[in-house]
Amino acid sequence: MKKASGFALFLVALSLSAQAATGPDFDRFFLPKTLRVDYFHTGTKGSEVFSLDQLVEQPVWAGSRTNLVDTLNLGKYLIKVIDLATNQLIYSRGFCSLYGEWETTDEAARGITRTFSESALIPFPKRPFQFVIAKRDAENHFRDVFSAAIVPDSLHVRRDLPHVSFAVEDVMVHGDPATKVDILILGDGYSRKDLPKFRKDVRRFVQDLFDTSPFRERKKDFNVRAVEVISAESGIDEPTKHRWRDNALGCTYNSFGTPRYVLCFDNKTLRNVAAVAPYDALILLVNSGRYGGGGIFNLYAVCYSGPETQGDSWWPDYVFVHEFGHSFAGLADEYYSSNVSYVDFYPKGVEPWEPNITALLQPGHVKWQDLVEPGTPLPTPWNKARYDSLAAVRRHLNRQDPEYKEKARALEQEMQQLLRSEPYWGKVGAFEGAGYVSTGLYRPFLDCRMFSKSLTGFCPVCAQAIEKVIDFLTK
Ligand SMILES: [Zn+2]
Repeated sequence: MKKASGFALFLVALSLSAQAATGPDFDRFFLPKTLRVDYFHTGTKGSEVFSLDQLVEQPVWAGSRTNLVDTLNLGKYLIKVIDLATNQLIYSRGFCSLYGEWETTDEAARGITRTFSESALIPFPKRPFQFVIAKRDAENHFRDVFSAAIVPDSLHVRRDLPHVSFAVEDVMVHGDPATKVDILILGDGYSRKDLPKFRKDVRRFVQDLFDTSPFRERKKDFNVRAVEVISAESGIDEPTKHRWRDNALGCTYNSFGTPRYVLCFDNKTLRNVAAVAPYDALILLVNSGRYGGGGIFNLYAVCYSGPETQGDSWWPDYVFVHEFGHSFAGLADEYYSSNVSYVDFYPKGVEPWEPNITALLQPGHVKWQDLVEPGTPLPTPWNKARYDSLAAVRRHLNRQDPEYKEKARALEQEMQQLLRSEPYWGKVGAFEGAGYVSTGLYRPFLDCRMFSKSLTGFCPVCAQAIEKVIDFLTK
């Protein structure tokens, strides 16, 4: 009896999967492991070239076996895998990169050329394929910018993964990597004696993430593992303070000239260490008490761990989940009053691809219209002038002032109260001021984890965008 019902369930599952399978068939085109395509991305503002570096075989494919062609339309770039025998698109995935950010900096505008190592992780193709990189043009449509034929069973594929002796801890495992979002957390700047702190930091961060909606409700869709990466020294590089550390992954403050921006530029070291476990999303936890972090879509999120004892500057909870919003769901910064090093990050008159900011090019209609209550004006009025004047005072506070923290906190509270007293507080609309600019870009909610430095939750538009990525990776 038991057997019969099991078989019946199997038949039902088969027919359901046959109905759902509209895209390429995984087993026809792929082996259940990963091919890592490492390449160099070189250029300056207005001109870029790609060159293949190496191909590496990794043991498990962590991504979906059903959703192979990207339907999310996120990212500045798009990887495409085209089967050469049938000319069929069999895999694609949007992403952002260090290069993509760097080309918007003043350094690139001055014509300086730089090279970045990047990796594309794709399910391991059985047959020769065309590896294509597309980039968004001025109107945000993808155009091919690089293409190379790759033979996956060639002798050029490295099958000798560099030996990594770091321990991998299963923090929370709910099932098969193919149907779960696999998060891999790597520590940087933790020496051997700091490992107990790393384990504690990981637990707290995982708790923070899954205390936040919509991750809280979708916890069972995730696996979380942590690699106990051991650095020779404690801490990470802080160039403006002339502090240099021998940290294993090379994470550094002052990325692209922004003091609090922490990124990892040593892509190959990172990828070789990360190859010890399957992953859909990488989180780099850096052992530092100084505020900082960063998040790049489909690359990684970085966050500082905070000091051993939690003091007043204890903001990692906010930073971590915010940066993960960038790296996991391609969410844009909804804030606009901080100093960043980008020049015209969002070109005028073009609708950003990010799901949570808009240029509102169609009057009275916005891309998150399904979440807007009828009768809500677009753009949606709010007391921006008053908010901006408080933000300006906050920005010009003197950090050396012994009362700096109290003054800053008082201003932030006043700004929060102002938002909360607005008539459209708690409603989805289109509020001017987003994406690093005060005018011309709009955010969907007065406050959100992507807007303010507080433990505010994600707004309904951001939450919906996160759920879409979870669905894509788990079905
Ligand atoms: Zn939001």
